[in-house]
Amino acid sequence: MALTRWLDRFRALAAQAPGLAEDTVTLAPARGAIRPSHHLVFGCMVHGEECGPLPGVVAALEALAHGALRTSAHVTAFVGNAAAGLADARFLESDLNREFGESSSDTHEGRRARALTPVLAQATLFVDLHQTIQPAAEPFWIMPFHVQGALWARALDAAKVWMTRAPDAQFSASGACADELVRRLGRPGITLELGQKGFGHGAEMRAERVIRRALELVEALDVGATLRALAAERPEPAYFETLHAVPFDRDDYALRPGLVNFQRVTRGERLSADNAPEVLAPVDGALLFPKYPPRDARGAYQQPLPAELVRLVAPMSRHPLDAYGLRATVES
Ligand SMILES: [Zn+2]
Repeated sequence: MALTRWLDRFRALAAQAPGLAEDTVTLAPARGAIRPSHHLVFGCMVHGEECGPLPGVVAALEALAHGALRTSAHVTAFVGNAAAGLADARFLESDLNREFGESSSDTHEGRRARALTPVLAQATLFVDLHQTIQPAAEPFWIMPFHVQGALWARALDAAKVWMTRAPDAQFSASGACADELVRRLGRPGITLELGQKGFGHGAEMRAERVIRRALELVEALDVGATLRALAAERPEPAYFETLHAVPFDRDDYALRPGLVNFQRVTRGERLSADNAPEVLAPVDGALLFPKYPPRDARGAYQQPLPAELVRLVAPMSRHPLDAYGLRATVES
C-alpha cells in the first residue's frame, strides 16, 4: 500500500529528527544560517484519508535533511492522523480538526489534538494541507480572513481563490481547527485544499511546491525583505464567500453526476439529477462541497446525511479589509 511506504519514509525522518509529538519531524536550520527567525509548521493528514500531500512533504523534508535544500528556519511537519489514514477513514472516533479547542474529547483524535498543541504553538507560520472529498477545479485556500495570513497566502501563491469569512470572533471552547489554534496564538494559520483526496490528484507536487516557496520567503525575510513587499509580487487571491447552502433535508435529493468544487455555475442552472427534486443554482457563482453520500443495496443513502447538499459561493463584492472593517489596521 502506497500510504504505508510514505509513512515509513516520514517516520524514518521522525526517528532522526523527532518533533514534540509522535509522527512529527523537526529539522534545525542549516549550520551557519542567520539567527533563525521563523519556525514553519506544515500539517498533513489531519483528516486521515487526505494522504495526497504526504509524498510532497516527505520529498521536501528529505531534501532538507540531506542538505539538497537549505533554510534558515526551523521546519516542522506532522502527519495528523496516521491511524485513520491507514484505515482509509477521515477519523476514527471524532474529527481531529474539531478537537483543538480548550475542551477536547476523550477520543483518539482528542488525545492527538492535545499532543499536537505544543507543535502548533511553535509556529510562526502554520500551513495545513488538506484535500476535498470530490475533485476540485483548482486548489483553494479556506479559512476566516486574517491580515497576516492574507499576506502569507498571497506570497505563497499556491491558490488563486480563497473561501473566506469574517475573522475568528472568539475562539471556540470546543470544535476548533488546527489553523484556528495558531491564529488564536496571534500567528498566521492557513489552510490549503489541494484537490481530491488520495494520491495521484496533484497534491504531492503542490504540497512540495508550497513548502519550497515558504522556505524561499523566509530566506528573503531573513535578509531584510518585508512580507508586504513579497506578497505584492504575486497576484492577490480572489476572495469568495458563501452565499447559499442547500440543506440536505430530503432523502430523495441527488446532485447531477460530476459536480466538483469551484465549478462555475450560472443562476437557474439545474444542479439536481434527472430523477431527483429540482435544485437550481440560486445565483451566479461556484459550487463548494457537492455531496454524493454512499447508498445501500436498495439505493437508500447511508445515514446520517451530511448537513448540506452543496454550497453556492461567489466572489466578495468588497475587499475583506473593507467588508470586515480592517482597512485602518493595515494603513495606520
Ligand atoms: Zn481535510
